[in-house]
Amino acid sequence: MVLRFVRAHAPCSRADIAAATGLNKTTVSSLVGELIDRRLLRETGLTEHRIGRPATMIVVDGSPYAAVGLEISTDYLAAVAVDLRGERLLTWRRSFTGQGAGSSKAVAAVATLARRAVARVRDDGREVLGINVGVPGLVDAGGVVRSATSLGWRDVGLRDDLRAALGNPDYPVAVENDANLAVLAEYRYGAHAGVANLAYLTGQAGIGAGIISDGRLLRGARGFGGEIGHLAIDPAGPTCPCGRTGCLEAVAGIGAVLRKLGHDSLVDAEIGVADVVRRAQQREPEVLAVLTQLGRDLGHGASILANLVNPEVVLLGGYYAPLAPWVIEVATAELAARTVAPQAGGARIVASTLGYNATATGGAAGVLETVDSGRLPTA
Ligand SMILES: [Zn+2]
Repeated sequence: MVLRFVRAHAPCSRADIAAATGLNKTTVSSLVGELIDRRLLRETGLTEHRIGRPATMIVVDGSPYAAVGLEISTDYLAAVAVDLRGERLLTWRRSFTGQGAGSSKAVAAVATLARRAVARVRDDGREVLGINVGVPGLVDAGGVVRSATSLGWRDVGLRDDLRAALGNPDYPVAVENDANLAVLAEYRYGAHAGVANLAYLTGQAGIGAGIISDGRLLRGARGFGGEIGHLAIDPAGPTCPCGRTGCLEAVAGIGAVLRKLGHDSLVDAEIGVADVVRRAQQREPEVLAVLTQLGRDLGHGASILANLVNPEVVLLGGYYAPLAPWVIEVATAELAARTVAPQAGGARIVASTLGYNATATGGAAGVLETVDSGRLPTA
């Protein structure tokens, strides 16, 4: 509680913390002392003069620790490290052919990237609080990827494999669904940070929804919620890699959009999307028609979220963000038409501003979340 308060209100004095949290001053002094011993907080040279004695001001200490987030996507790997204050220490992305590469190749590649990121933050004198890897699939509580259709994975023990590849490190290693991490990044660092009802649609090979509901990540019983990409929105639609027909992902996934416009592969999705943007700017009718349909489909998907969890903001992430200028207006109209509540229950559709690093950033945010909820590093 003290750490969270200082994060939100620094610089602040011990008296400020006591007044805001309702803890008595002795307790606050002892807790602050402990957090300083663990190098999570530090005193600044600043003092604040009130009536009576000057008060020493306290801030979160950014220098001793780092959290590392990673992402395995179908066409790239990403790594982000942040310190406890949320300062970005590194942002890396490199191309990687995840589709059909097999999990052992992916584990080796992500372990290499993780080792480099860990080495970099340690070179700066920081201790690693944990690493957290996002994957586009169903991840159970044991860090096993039960199914990731876009990667072609089934029952991959990613957390244990990665721990072994890293030589059983002393910091925690976690694995999480990519959409869950992306929405955590938005909730902590995005343009709509702190919005208590927030949803994020991943625009990668697949479509997943990360949902913050009443300020908490919505996981469901086994952590398998948010699979909006496999809700059927068109019974006459194409077959999905999951085996069902007319899934949102099969209809409006970035692969489907690129295929309709003559790009037959997801390997160079970034180049494909840049080409689509260029053609949309030139107002090519074929491209505008495909993007209008994409807007309708995404609005339909957003309306499912609006009817179920009543978000305030629905963020379009990944490859959808650069396409947003041609998509949002149509999507917003479709959302309103399909949502029972007036004005779509107050929901707005906006483009994510976190770019392709949202999931990796959310991985780091997830590590910091565990610190905020009490798993403090030992002094
Ligand atoms: Zn499907």
